[in-house]
Amino acid sequence: MKKLHFGTAGTPHSCRERTTIEGIRRVKELGLGCLEVEFVRGVRMKEETAAAVNEVRASTGIELSAHGPYYINLNAKEKEKIDASIERILQTARIAKICGASTITFHAGFYLGMEADKTYSVIKSNMKKIVDTLRAEGNDLWIRPETTGKGTQWGSYEEIVKLSSELDNVMPCVDFAHVHARTNVYNTYDEFRKILTHIEDNLGKKALQNMHIHVAGIEYSEKGERHHLNLNDSDLKYKEMLKAWKDFDIKGIVICESPNIEDDAMMLQKEYKKIN
Ligand SMILES: [Zn+2]
Repeated sequence: MKKLHFGTAGTPHSCRERTTIEGIRRVKELGLGCLEVEFVRGVRMKEETAAAVNEVRASTGIELSAHGPYYINLNAKEKEKIDASIERILQTARIAKICGASTITFHAGFYLGMEADKTYSVIKSNMKKIVDTLRAEGNDLWIRPETTGKGTQWGSYEEIVKLSSELDNVMPCVDFAHVHARTNVYNTYDEFRKILTHIEDNLGKKALQNMHIHVAGIEYSEKGERHHLNLNDSDLKYKEMLKAWKDFDIKGIVICESPNIEDDAMMLQKEYKKIN
């Protein structure tokens, strides 16, 4: 992408009509650049709606991404649950493609007490099925497992970067608030740089020029994420984060998941522009 776009997780609050199309128009009016279509409770959008979304996307120039259902575990014990999880990710990618989105994200799974390296192998083999199926369908969207907010959820940034280096069409969705909540650290300029350096070292400059980022304020304990907060009610040192982004000259999309959605998205965009 040519620049770093800031936008909302779903339809902004200030939108009268709760539709994706009105959401895209509102994001445009607010001077933001992207929107993540939320399929977190299931993929129910019809193909005609998705085609209409794509028209509005094209006419506004707003970048789109999609978030898959929460009910996904690529490391489930039962085969039916794994198959259903794969299907939900495929459905997300198929409808997102019709919407004109360039990238999808989701929380890939849980360890369920399994060792990290075994969990990694199971998730990798299931992710490979997803990538192969989509490629056979001519769907070239980026498939991006998200860095998770709790130690029980698979997806440290190192795991996600490793998977991205081993599978085609897979790239990280870096949720900086999650990385912070999961580790209780990663909240300083140097720590934010460390994440970006790790991405560059393993995935190359092109990964930094094509980022998919989530950010929100977050309340957490030693076990990780509890719930989202507005940035100024949280301890996230977002100005240091923005400075690290600027210094690495990253490009792509930043999706704001704070409860106030568009307010923090606009605030981040404004603060980002102020940095030289
Ligand atoms: Zn998420």
